[in-house]
Amino acid sequence: MSQTGGQGARTVRCPGCGGPSVYASGNPWRPFCSARCRGADLGAWAAESYRMPESTPPDPGWPGERPAGTATEDGK
Ligand SMILES: [Zn+2]
Repeated sequence: MSQTGGQGARTVRCPGCGGPSVYASGNPWRPFCSARCRGADLGAWAAESYRMPESTPPDPGWPGERPAGTATEDGK
């Protein structure tokens, strides 16, 4: 009953929206259906990744970018 129309082109389920997505070389966003779904997925992944360093409390004694050989500020 169901015969694929295009040869080599398959229709898969888009991980972004769950809709039909053409899994072929003509679809640069495969397995996503569109750039929007692909961007949304990457955005969610990045958001999860960025939440990790944010949980670290700010350190008041942060050494900063001072070189190791900095002289003391005692000499005026
Ligand atoms: Zn989609």
